[in-house]
Amino acid sequence: MITIKNVTKTYGSKQGAVKAVDNVNIDINDGEIFGVIGYSGAGKSTLIRMLNGLEIPTDGSIKVAGREISHIKGAKLRKARQEISMIFQHFNLLWSRTVTDNIAFPLEIAGVPKKKRMQRVKELISLVGLDGRENAYPSQLSGGQKQRVGIARALANNPKVLLCDEATSALDPQTTDSILELLVDINKRLGLTIVLITHEMHVIRKICHRVAVMEGGNIVETGPVLQVFKNPKQQITKRFVQQVTEPEETKDTIEHLLSRYPHGQVIQLTFVGEGAEQPLITNLIRQFPITVNILQGKISQTQNGSYGTLFIHLDGEEEDLQKALSYISSQGVGMEVISNG
Ligand code: ADP
Repeated sequence: MITIKNVTKTYGSKQGAVKAVDNVNIDINDGEIFGVIGYSGAGKSTLIRMLNGLEIPTDGSIKVAGREISHIKGAKLRKARQEISMIFQHFNLLWSRTVTDNIAFPLEIAGVPKKKRMQRVKELISLVGLDGRENAYPSQLSGGQKQRVGIARALANNPKVLLCDEATSALDPQTTDSILELLVDINKRLGLTIVLITHEMHVIRKICHRVAVMEGGNIVETGPVLQVFKNPKQQITKRFVQQVTEPEETKDTIEHLLSRYPHGQVIQLTFVGEGAEQPLITNLIRQFPITVNILQGKISQTQNGSYGTLFIHLDGEEEDLQKALSYISSQGVGMEVISNG
């Protein structure tokens, strides 16, 4: 659905040039939910704005639904942009217009006759769950409801691709979840391709099929979400994965475990799939003359399956512990040694 080939975007003059996006290559499939994660300044907004034709690449090409959008202008660009819609962190609604009028706006611009327009708005309002709020103004809506208007407006002209620019970053966790669920529902029902940018790994984990990690304008790592969680290769990816696998309470957990187990080694495992840790633990006990204590763990269910973390404590002769650790690291689970007493 989207092909990004050797795309570079440089801002400014030669002396003060900033390479915001540096030779990026991504292929996004039809019907896929694709996430791009990175810290502030990584180049995410620049990349997503180029997908929408809002920014022109300095080099390279971008095709959406088979059509080149990177270096076209005027009527051609307008036509191409009908297939791509965008929602924003701060919703970008028309504050002086009602919910109905906000959603009808792109249809008005496209010249859809009034009766048809109102019919379409009714469908969209029901699709995003805003029944009863037709005549409200944005100032009378909650953040989540405002984003629902944004989504309905973005879908008005039946786009093939929906771009989400930090679409849940201004929302509380519960509202974020409900908006992410709506995006999944839309993806399934309409077969819409979704590209989202975020700095929050829980958003990626909840709804994305694949993820690209961006740093300094480059894509440094990409793959299916479960695979990236299971085996993050880059340091930055590990940090993002830990955002989700190490919630606030983990710090206390670690301190508590260290005080309880001053000898031997406390290890944190990150694994994908329910029960995935069981064969590993069984093999550890069977194959090595060490003591294995299972301390505490947590399994989380997500859109893409389940994943979990587990703390274990190993004790025994140094040589046997080393062998056990190399065995664990050969098993494709995430492993971090917390203590080395
Ligand atoms: P992100 O969305 O990941 O925070 P951006 O794409 O906004 O990253 O920015 C990437 C880099 O490009 C930053 O160094 C930023 O300062 C620079 N940049 C972004 N937009 C412009 C612009 N219009 N003019 C000059 N530099 C820009």
